[in-house]
Amino acid sequence: MKSIDRNYGKNDPEFSGREPLLRGDETDEDKVLNLSLRPLSFADFIGQEKIRENLKVAISAAQSRQEPLEHLLLAGPPGLGKTTLAHIIAHEMGTKITMTSGPSIERAGDLIGILTNLEQGDVLFIDEIHRLSKVVEEFLYPAMEDYKIDFVIDKGPYAKTIQFNLKPFTLIGATTRSGLLSAALRSRFGMFYHLDFYPWTELIKIVHKSAGILGIEMDEKSAEIIARRSRGTPRVANRLLRRVRDYVQVRADGAMNAETADRALNMQGIDAAGLDDIDRRVLQTLIEVYKGGPVGIDALAATLNEESDTIMDVVEPYLLKIGFLKRTPRGRQVTEKALRHLGRAVEKKGLFEDE
Ligand code: ADP
Repeated sequence: MKSIDRNYGKNDPEFSGREPLLRGDETDEDKVLNLSLRPLSFADFIGQEKIRENLKVAISAAQSRQEPLEHLLLAGPPGLGKTTLAHIIAHEMGTKITMTSGPSIERAGDLIGILTNLEQGDVLFIDEIHRLSKVVEEFLYPAMEDYKIDFVIDKGPYAKTIQFNLKPFTLIGATTRSGLLSAALRSRFGMFYHLDFYPWTELIKIVHKSAGILGIEMDEKSAEIIARRSRGTPRVANRLLRRVRDYVQVRADGAMNAETADRALNMQGIDAAGLDDIDRRVLQTLIEVYKGGPVGIDALAATLNEESDTIMDVVEPYLLKIGFLKRTPRGRQVTEKALRHLGRAVEKKGLFEDE
C-alpha cells in the first residue's frame, strides 16, 4: 500500500517541462512506466551489491527486534535507484511508504499531518532532502530522535507548545548532493549509503529485464549498445530502451539489433560515450569560451543558459566519472580524454597549462 503526498514535486523546477533523453531525473513517461519497471524486491534489484546486502542484514535485524529500521540516507545522482530502494525496504518490512520531497514541505506545519499519520514502522521518504528549509529541518530532529514533535501555536504571550507523540517510523532521505546536508541532519541518520553509477554489464541485465516486462524482443548486442550509452544510470537505460523500441517499430519493422539500436541512438543525438547534446555543449563551452578551464560552475552555467543545479546534479557527475572533466580548486577543467572524444587537437595551447 502506498500513499503519495499530493504536493510532491510541486515547487520543483525540475518537474516543469524539460525532458531531455539522458537526464537522470524523472519525466512523466517515466513516472507511468517506472511503476511497472520498478523492482519490488531485493531479488529484482540489480547491482549495488554491498548496499543491498547491508540493507538486508539491517532489515532482518530490525525485524527480529520488532523495531523499525534505523533512519537511512541515500545519496547519488538521479535515476540510480534511491526511490526504488525505499519502496523495496517498505515492502520487505511489510509497512507502508509515504513520499514527499524537500521543496514541497514549505513550512513545519506541512510536516505535522504527514508525521502524525505514520503508523508504527512506516517509511517516510523525503526526496531531495538537502532542499528542506532550516526551520523544517530543525523541526524534524526531535521527530527523528525521540519520535516527538513540538508545535508552537499562537504568538507572543499566548504562545503555547503542543507536543505530539509519533509512532516509531523510518525516515529515508534521498539526496543528489549529500555535501549540502547539514552535519546535524546527517548525524541523525543511522545508515548512510552512496549509490554509484552502474557498470554497463549490470545495465545490460536491467535492459533485458525491462525488455522482458515490456514484451520487447532484443539480442545481446543491442542490449549492450543501450547499456553502454546509458551513462551508468538505470533510468536512462530504460528510457533509451523505449526510444529504440519506438524507432525499430516505425523505421525497421520491429527488428531490434545492433545496427538499428545504434541508428536509433544516433538519431537521438546520443554518441558512443553516451553523451547527449547538453554534455557536449558543456565540454565545448569549456573549451571554446574558457580555454578548457578551470572555470567556476556558475560562470559556466550562465554562459550555457542552464541552471547550475542541473549541471552539478546531472551533467557533471557522469563527466567526472568517465574522466572527461576534472575538479580543481579553481573550478572545472576539461581533460585530454574529452578532447580526444570530441576530435579536438590535444596540444591546443593553453588548455593544460597547469597540468
Ligand atoms: P532515484 O530515486 O535514484 O532518482 P529511481 O529509484 O526512481 O531513482 O530509479 C529509476 C528507475 O530505474 C526505476 O524506476 C527502475 O525502473 C530503474 N532502476 C533503478 N535502479 C535499479 C536497479 N538496481 N535494478 C533495476 N532497475 C533499477
